Amino acid sequence: MSNITTDFNDKTIEYKQLLDDFKQLLKKNNLKFTIQREVILETLYNLDEHLTPESLHNLIQKKFPDLNTGIATVYRTLSLLEESEMVTSLSFGAQGKKYELGAKHHHDHFICTICGSIAEFVDEQIEERQRKIAQELGFDMKDHSMQIYGICKNCQKI
Ligand SMILES: [Zn+2]
Ligand SMILES: [Zn+2]
Repeated sequence: MSNITTDFNDKTIEYKQLLDDFKQLLKKNNLKFTIQREVILETLYNLDEHLTPESLHNLIQKKFPDLNTGIATVYRTLSLLEESEMVTSLSFGAQGKKYELGAKHHHDHFICTICGSIAEFVDEQIEERQRKIAQELGFDMKDHSMQIYGICKNCQKI
């Protein structure tokens, strides 16, 4: 297991910087900076999880009921953040997408197709092989994402 990292709690960006980037992004798209939009960003930043738009919306409604953040605002803000690569999404087929902030260190994902649980990992050998393959094929690799689908330990017991 020596080459495998599974803990990615440290962020690559300070919240203040992220917030500045977000404000600029909104401005560029002629959208107003609102407290609702800020809460969406802040929740994504503070929760180290992969969230569906619905679960993100539920969390915000529970924590800030007075803000009345609409699900449409959550959807719109997430797709805006995704377009500008501040947020990345994982596809769950018919079950939709889960989002996480791009301000985490690079990692890959195991996704359970039964319960939807996610395990994050980085394996230095896999990373190195990908760089080598890109080189051999003459690709200037900018980024990559790997999603492995299967059945997690818990679901195998059922
Ligand atoms: Zn599972
Ligand atoms: Zn992740």
